[in-house]
Amino acid sequence: MNTPDLSPQRILIVEDEAKIAALLADYLQAAGYETQVLGDGAQALPLLRQSPPALLVLDLMLPGLDGLSLCRELRQFSALPVLMVSARVDELDRLLGLELGADDYLCKPFSPREAVARVRALLRRAQGRLPGLVAPGPQAMEGGYAVDEAGQRLFWQGQALQLTPLEFRLLRLLLRHPGRVFSRAQLLEQLHEDFRDVSDRVIDSHVKNIRRKLAQLSPPQEPVSAVYGVGYRLDL
Ligand code: CA
Repeated sequence: MNTPDLSPQRILIVEDEAKIAALLADYLQAAGYETQVLGDGAQALPLLRQSPPALLVLDLMLPGLDGLSLCRELRQFSALPVLMVSARVDELDRLLGLELGADDYLCKPFSPREAVARVRALLRRAQGRLPGLVAPGPQAMEGGYAVDEAGQRLFWQGQALQLTPLEFRLLRLLLRHPGRVFSRAQLLEQLHEDFRDVSDRVIDSHVKNIRRKLAQLSPPQEPVSAVYGVGYRLDL
């Protein structure tokens, strides 16, 4: 019988505002996590490679290397959960639309309790993934879905969905943020480098195809719904 690993999970906090970092570290430690704080983005990258934590709390505006670039670099070699924090709501909103690899976002000022709750939820979701590595096979998501990043495929209950690359990106975004409404413009940003000349009705036709393909696998309910006058939302 394997002995369960009871050592505390380590959370790396990359945040240059010392007070916020200390407060977060206190609350996370009280919740049973081990913490490590870095104030410089450039220092974080080698650490993330050599000794990956269980989760990264990442500030957006940082000296050295900003949070966005750091997250992008990290995603080249790691799938570890990232909770992005920023004082700029508009910036967070844009990031969420662009889907640059963070798993969740928190706006400053946030309550440390809320941060701990988000960390806990992200770690729970990440269970089953290989720590610090991009898993070679499909990774389980909520609702019976799984995503295979390397093979650019999505599965539902083990059945492969035959999706085009654009449909794959759209559905993956919706699956990563169940319950969140995305506008057509936000979804379009996923699909085209330059979407100014593209009608956002293009999204409707992609979503229509995704729903048709999902329906062939007969999930218990229609997961993707249109939100009148706004866009689309996926519910699990
Ligand atoms: Ca900062």
